[in-house]
Amino acid sequence: MDLISIERRYRNIKRIIISIFIIMVFVYAFLAIEHVYASARKERFCRENEAIISKIIQEQEEAKKQEEEQKKLEKILTDEEIEKVNSIYKSEEKRVFLTFDDGPSKSVTPLILDLLKEQNVKANFFVLGSRVELYPQIVKREYEDGHYIANHGYSHTYSQIYSSTNSVLDEYNKTNQAVKNAIENQAYNTNIFRFPGGSVGGKYNAIKSEAKQLLKQNKIASVDWNALTGDAEGVKTQEALVNRLKETIKNRNSLVILMHDAADKILTYSTLPQVIEYLRQEGYQFKTFYDLLDEQ
Ligand SMILES: [Zn+2]
Repeated sequence: MDLISIERRYRNIKRIIISIFIIMVFVYAFLAIEHVYASARKERFCRENEAIISKIIQEQEEAKKQEEEQKKLEKILTDEEIEKVNSIYKSEEKRVFLTFDDGPSKSVTPLILDLLKEQNVKANFFVLGSRVELYPQIVKREYEDGHYIANHGYSHTYSQIYSSTNSVLDEYNKTNQAVKNAIENQAYNTNIFRFPGGSVGGKYNAIKSEAKQLLKQNKIASVDWNALTGDAEGVKTQEALVNRLKETIKNRNSLVILMHDAADKILTYSTLPQVIEYLRQEGYQFKTFYDLLDEQ
């Protein structure tokens, strides 16, 4: 190997080393810059995450606070108010509580609501939870029209609701929640229950009387009736319904009249003007359970 070729080779090696060095400098610089950017990205990501987490926590806390405030507003009966409901059949002045069970129904309830509005009469609806879920808008209208929404359980199937005392309370609670949802007011409580088939007698008498105690422990009152039109007894004409009502009133001052607004009770609706007219003639004042609870 001559001197020239040694020198050329040396220059080549030098060039390669310099190139490698330059590449390394570039790579290092790139890595350094990338590192700075990565840290910045990581920091931003952490900050954003923290903001999201604290927003979620804040929202959860606010929701909890709102729920607690609504609970505070929730109307729960006092023992004194339960006593008022228990004494509903006693009154010095003539008064009447119109009650409609087993609704809401799409075919009959809106007609009854129209009529009550026209007559300027407020009533009480013992709704079934299963039907409230079907027609929440109708229940909302009942509420907004100023009628009392009371509780008639969820299923209306005796073997189901009277399978135990707890299932009576469960059906009350399920219906109560359905009503809150329907009227979009979580602070509302139905508070007054009517046993399907009445609170006394029949095959399930023992369960019913135990359930009554359980309801009372949970600050829930129950109400039956002391007059009726017989609209669930197969009475077939308007005249017969009015006559049955007159028979059951028996000169009493305080009336709780049982009627129904289920889908097949069109006769109840068509007889209602005569029922209202008769009660007015006899000097009865129409009342709701709101009025009863507000009484001094
Ligand atoms: Zn019923």
